[in-house]
Amino acid sequence: MNEQDIYSGLPQDDEQTIESVLRPASFADFVGRPGTVDNLRTWIEAARMRAEPLDHILFCGPPGLGKTTLAYIIANELGVSLRSTSGPALSKPRDLVGLLTGLRRGDVLFIDEIHRLDVRVEEYLYTAMEDFFITIIIDPGPHGRSIRLDLRPFTLIGATTREGLLAPPLRSRFQISERLDFYTTDELMEVAAKSARILGIGLQPQAARRIAECSRGTPRITNRFLRRIRDVAQAAGSGVITPQIAEDGLRRLGVDDRGLAEMDRRILALLARSSGRPVGLKTIAAVVGEQEDTIEDVYEPFLIRQGLLERTARGRAITPAGLEACGADGPGPEGQASLF
Ligand code: ADP
Repeated sequence: MNEQDIYSGLPQDDEQTIESVLRPASFADFVGRPGTVDNLRTWIEAARMRAEPLDHILFCGPPGLGKTTLAYIIANELGVSLRSTSGPALSKPRDLVGLLTGLRRGDVLFIDEIHRLDVRVEEYLYTAMEDFFITIIIDPGPHGRSIRLDLRPFTLIGATTREGLLAPPLRSRFQISERLDFYTTDELMEVAAKSARILGIGLQPQAARRIAECSRGTPRITNRFLRRIRDVAQAAGSGVITPQIAEDGLRRLGVDDRGLAEMDRRILALLARSSGRPVGLKTIAAVVGEQEDTIEDVYEPFLIRQGLLERTARGRAITPAGLEACGADGPGPEGQASLF
């Protein structure tokens, strides 16, 4: 994992196994979001009482906040199987048809990054979601033939980081929609404490606080930091993460006192150099060498919440606190001189 990836809420290739170990399996272990959990419990109970599949659910919110985790918990609570896929993985209608026909009554189909579905695939979902059938065109052309394939009633759970990119016909077919937002420091301390227990490492409360404060409101990042800092503790021959070990680990991971990562500092430095003029997302992406999506989903939300950056109609602008954070006194030559 390179340094930039460490701060990304997006899952990394080598994380799948460890994530499944740390992923809460029940609502009781899911930290925070009491409103969402309470709603979901109610709908699950109602579906059980009616002996009907649960309504389709859409989870929206930045990466690493628990969308996939909730989908698995729901399937567990319902006692059904979950089949998992993602928008980009379903490139042909055939891929979706195979998945849909393999579902048993009440099963959950989880589609991550559902905003990235191919439109041809998406159209198949409309009748599948609404009336549990799909129409397969066998013979395209003027005398084309099609057959109707009935499906067993199922629940679709979609997850998206970009609700705005969802086509309205798809969006409207989800009866339930829940938005996940960033977690508080206290909630992330709880995530860290639970994960430390699973990983078999001691974690002192002040160390948990420091890790939580630097986790950008994102449980996935808390767990990632914890695993890295556990390595630092074990290399030092300690079975406990003390505040000093946490500090040492965070510094090695490139996190500064404010919890800013290298990429945050690069974005702020670029904006500071623009003498107070807003800079467009495309330009930022090109200069700092990161994808526009990642900047919007991962870095900006944190910088905005910290009051260091703001979105304006003409682009992104640095705030006075942002200038201070990257060591500049203000826009103009003096600020630039202190930065570079
Ligand atoms: P998303 O699907 O939103 O990208 P995930 O559900 O995959 O995020 O969560 C990433 C990891 O963060 C999970 O493996 C889990 O360990 C942890 N996590 C997320 N939300 C919570 C939570 N509310 N409580 C405890 N751990 C969580």
